[in-house]
Amino acid sequence: MTIDAQFLRQRLESGASVDVRGDGKAGGGLVLVMQSFGAALATHPELDVQDWPLFSSARKGANVRAYLRLARGEVLTACQITSPTVAVLMNEAAGEEVDFAEGTHEALYVVNTPASPEEAAQKYRLGGRVVTVSADQLGQKYLGRPLGNVGVLAALVHATGFVSPDAGLESLLHVMKKRRIPQRLVDQNAELFRAALTESRVGDFPADPSTDHRRPAAHPKTDVPAGAQSALRTSRKNRTSGYGRPGVRVEFHDETNRCNGCSLCVVACPEGIIEFTPDPRGALVTGAKFDDFCKVCRECIASCPLDLFHEVETPMRREGVLESA
Ligand code: SF4
Ligand code: SF4
Repeated sequence: MTIDAQFLRQRLESGASVDVRGDGKAGGGLVLVMQSFGAALATHPELDVQDWPLFSSARKGANVRAYLRLARGEVLTACQITSPTVAVLMNEAAGEEVDFAEGTHEALYVVNTPASPEEAAQKYRLGGRVVTVSADQLGQKYLGRPLGNVGVLAALVHATGFVSPDAGLESLLHVMKKRRIPQRLVDQNAELFRAALTESRVGDFPADPSTDHRRPAAHPKTDVPAGAQSALRTSRKNRTSGYGRPGVRVEFHDETNRCNGCSLCVVACPEGIIEFTPDPRGALVTGAKFDDFCKVCRECIASCPLDLFHEVETPMRREGVLESA
């Protein structure tokens, strides 16, 4: 099976959605790619498009992920994309830390790399169609810095064939103008986009057991995806523990065992440090390893419907050390 533009079109015609997932680094332009691509698709009268980035407590350099789902008629599903039809790797450094092909066996892959499709397929164990574009180098050439987003957008437009290159470029320029990017930079990006259309390379590779990136389904109650976002956002890999503000910390209090096991905090904690006991009701939370990489992002506080997590001041703050500093 060739995962090309025709395959994707047939998929839409059969009533299925085409699910696009992108992995990159915060500040690398992944959102611009998805917004521009989504806006170009949305001009098609028969297509419905949904796109959103997964951010949170991430800063420049942290891994980020974005989703875009399209279908004929109306997109009815609104969950994260776990088995993408099209997987985009915006930044190879992100590919070192997360499996950008996770959930796929055979798909269309767009990779920002100077490597050939064969080399990329081998490195990331990919089956299906692999499109590579040396987008960072194009960024260096046209913008004076290795910014790969526009090159990746061009390769994505070209590889999927849903919209013409002109429509893809027009959408990009529109998004850039809305962001008040200076005209000189907009023109340079347009040149870069055109160059990337011709410089992307394509290879088709058979799917086999080694290209299988699917995982067995988790049990919804007992296999809680602890720290579901961890691979994307942990301090250890992304060095975001600097978010832990001095003078405050988070505590968990549930003296009367009110925790209902909803698991929301367990899934929301980007560090995977919430401690719980599996129970038929779900994950009964007993506390968290707050001293181990808690970055006081407050996601547990925001997610708990019973207000069992609290931000408290530490002695340093109470003694007025910060106030007088
Ligand atoms: S504040 Fe809560 S969600 Fe954030 S890292 Fe600490 S324990 Fe996890
Ligand atoms: S969000 Fe609150 S109620 Fe739900 S599992 Fe966590 S601590 Fe328990």
